[in-house]
Amino acid sequence: MSVVPPPLSSALVAEQPRVSAYEIATANFDRAADLLELTPEWRKLIRSSFREVRVEVPLYRADGSLVVFTGYRVQHSGARGPFKGGIRYSPLVDIDEVRALAETMTYKTALVNVPFGGGKGGVNVDPRTLTTLELEHVTRRYISRIHLLLGPNRDVPAPDMGTNAQVMAWIVDQYGRQHGYNPAVVTGKPLELGGSPGREQATGRGVVITALAAARDMGLVPSDLRVAVQGFGNVGMNAALLFAEAGCRVVAVSDVSGGYHSPSGLDLADIRGYKEREDGDGTLRDYAGAGVRLVEHADFMGVDCDVLVPAAVESAIHEDNVASVKARIVVEGANLPVTPGADRALNEMGVLVVPDILANAGGVIVSYFEWSQNFQQYTWEEADVNQRLEKMLMKAYADVTSRAKALGSTLREAAFVLAIDRVVKAEKLRGSL
Ligand code: NAD
Repeated sequence: MSVVPPPLSSALVAEQPRVSAYEIATANFDRAADLLELTPEWRKLIRSSFREVRVEVPLYRADGSLVVFTGYRVQHSGARGPFKGGIRYSPLVDIDEVRALAETMTYKTALVNVPFGGGKGGVNVDPRTLTTLELEHVTRRYISRIHLLLGPNRDVPAPDMGTNAQVMAWIVDQYGRQHGYNPAVVTGKPLELGGSPGREQATGRGVVITALAAARDMGLVPSDLRVAVQGFGNVGMNAALLFAEAGCRVVAVSDVSGGYHSPSGLDLADIRGYKEREDGDGTLRDYAGAGVRLVEHADFMGVDCDVLVPAAVESAIHEDNVASVKARIVVEGANLPVTPGADRALNEMGVLVVPDILANAGGVIVSYFEWSQNFQQYTWEEADVNQRLEKMLMKAYADVTSRAKALGSTLREAAFVLAIDRVVKAEKLRGSL
């Protein structure tokens, strides 16, 4: 009988980042804390997690073997509202990654000014190795061990890498068994269980909104832009489709199976159909559209394009591949996809980087709309959701660009200065600790 998690897939092992998510989060924080002249005590208070929980998640597989996964929930800061952040299923999940992602959520919710703090959860499971029923069991076991920490006014999870609306539906059900039905306990739910129109596309939509705003500031229009997107999941696929809808030419996409490049533009409807086909494995493995050439993972960041969107994993652009980047704009669809050394290099190369806490905040903005709709028991029109999303995100974009001008800083430094300052102010207003 096996009692250890199944082995990591070789693709993921090969991609294991050399700079950890926590090191990237530390660099982001330290630079902004220096600009804000925060004292050592305030640095310590703001950075440390409010609460970190580690649980065992056992599963009897369909063949009778036992596997034991490890689950985490980190609540980083609740100074500005309930903890908010996704749940990730990936064999690479560990406490340092979840801690870094939870802290990143605190600054993202502060930057776009939604009434949440930051949190994150994860289980070190590769969902592609489980049946649907096994995935449901893992989800129920994980939630049954952390349900006391959750709640619409305590901690509100959402989907992240490896999870989706179906996983959120199981969470609503499992949480409801102990606490009564309350859809506001998670966001990113199916529409039938209180999800919001527009939530599934929201993160990708936000990536496109911020990318086009950055391009506009450089005097570029959508038809000038050739776009490459790493990751063809919730964020990457929706961003690619919306870039094309806006009139850009999407020349390359990649997923865990590799990269697919066509300088004259990819047929995204065909690629999406291939990914979603009944007998497929949900990846683009062996995709062979007309005029499409394969690109190795190691070469993807060097694809000739104007806008490069890392929308998959952390540390995707690092010191060894940054020199190959040809894009003029990098838009961080993923969390923490650029290492600090690569970030400095991009800046020196004159590449504009739209940071994650701005570029991928569309998801948490529409999660806020979903949560609000659940309290009202009232569903908004999708057009209304999209319009409000654009307004909130463009306000944050304008705040960041004007603060960057005032500071003479990068967009990342300005975004973190704005966000950390708001968290410090909220913490101070709450009074004695
Ligand atoms: P997902 O699981 O839906 O998709 C991930 C995609 O990345 C898949 O296509 C997968 O094949 C691909 N991938 C995995 N490893 C890869 C590799 N080494 N090279 C290339 N592609 C690889 O996940 P998602 O929800 O789209 O999340 C992607 C990123 O965006 C994560 O960093 C996540 O934290 C961040 N994010 C997600 C949301 C959201 O609303 N889902 C919101 C904000 C940020």
